[in-house]
Amino acid sequence: MKVPFLDLSKMDSELKNRLERKFKELLEHGVFSGGKEVESFESNVSEFLSSPYSISCANGTDALELALRALGIGPGDEVIVPALTWVSTAEVVSMVGATPVFWDTDQEGLLADDWVLAVTNRTKAIIPVHLYGKMVSMENLIIKAKEQGLLVIEDAAQAFGAFQSGIAAGTWGDVGCLSFYPTKNLGALGEAGMCLTKDQKIAEKIRLLRNHGQKKKDKHQIVGRNSRIDTLQAGFLNVFLQKFKIHQEKRKSLASIYYHNLRPIRDLKFPENIMEADHNAHLLVIQIEKRDELQRFLSGNGITTSIHYPEIIPDMQPYLAKGKFLNSRKLTQLGLSLPLNAFMTEKEVDFVVSKIQEFFQRG
Ligand SMILES: *Cc1c(COP(=O)(O)O)cnc(C)c1O
Repeated sequence: MKVPFLDLSKMDSELKNRLERKFKELLEHGVFSGGKEVESFESNVSEFLSSPYSISCANGTDALELALRALGIGPGDEVIVPALTWVSTAEVVSMVGATPVFWDTDQEGLLADDWVLAVTNRTKAIIPVHLYGKMVSMENLIIKAKEQGLLVIEDAAQAFGAFQSGIAAGTWGDVGCLSFYPTKNLGALGEAGMCLTKDQKIAEKIRLLRNHGQKKKDKHQIVGRNSRIDTLQAGFLNVFLQKFKIHQEKRKSLASIYYHNLRPIRDLKFPENIMEADHNAHLLVIQIEKRDELQRFLSGNGITTSIHYPEIIPDMQPYLAKGKFLNSRKLTQLGLSLPLNAFMTEKEVDFVVSKIQEFFQRG
């Protein structure tokens, strides 16, 4: 048996048919940028997440950059970001001319809650990342951020559909950013992203920035850019959104197979909270001392795993920064992401489980 980490060609035929019908419909309609499909996608997300303003854009990285620009963050400003995340989180801070200030995570990869120690008189904002789909404790974070006078930009790129105290990931901060990259829980058949906000003025600013600063055609009010979503992607996302709950149930039920079988293994640290509502089970990252050995063993048995991420950002050449970042660094050495997605079978998960059990029984 071969178990890929994620194979999107394995979508079921019913879903593929729906996507083909949507493509045909849009081809007949002849509108490929903006239009009703984009508007309905934005309002569908608004409704699903109870988000007052949802502004689609070209990808999740752009969503973060548009958020920073709309909030007026730029040269001379510092922004606190976790040392362990996908590069986008730090990249966008540098792209707007501000300085990312890295802070360690906890053992699970979420921003450590003593981040207040990183605040200086230049700090303007903080970007909590809901890494692997598990939400940072937002109530606490927002209270502390407001005490410090900081803006909060939520990087919810991995956490679509996670809810904390009934409030959706991405709707807690001043702006929340989503990615619909194909491998995310809600993924397009290409690139797409979105900003969420409660503030009408910020929403307006993001809409302007993503469309050349124009509200009306040819009336350019500010300097902007093109970061619009494709109509086709909005259409496909409308189809995927209808399936989202079913896909999440599948993910969670597969995660529970891993949970029940792997949790008892002493030398393996299992992400305990993966079954909770504020974790969307985007990635299942176990931690083991013999990580590389286990990865090789699984690979030899046809199972593909992944590492999120092999290097912390402050160790990367464009972002070099001093600091110990002990927990983040440890995760780069011990963390291993197991295959988990809505398009795999229980049999495949059972196979992965049995091979991991075999690895530990061999000693
Ligand atoms: C995927 C991701 C992004 C960026 O999204 P893209 O759509 O790929 O640009 C940003 N932050 C995190 C944590 C991500 O996982």
